[in-house]
Amino acid sequence: MGMFSRSMPVTASVADKPIHCLVCGGSEFWDREIKLNTTGMELFDMAWANKSALGLVCASCGYVHEFVGDAVQMWETQ
Ligand SMILES: [Zn+2]
Repeated sequence: MGMFSRSMPVTASVADKPIHCLVCGGSEFWDREIKLNTTGMELFDMAWANKSALGLVCASCGYVHEFVGDAVQMWETQ
């Protein structure tokens, strides 16, 4: 098993607006699940504390964008 769930990066959007990397402006990402119930998050008594976040890792520079909820749409690039 690899670190990522896909063999190809994805493009993503929120409300039909394409997501671009905040750092390099890239438009392709690796998607992976990020568990929120980490030691640090236990400090916050929030309703979503035991859920997962969507991590979009920039395929160009590796910057990780995290999203909670299901607003992000993803498409495979191939
Ligand atoms: Zn980037």
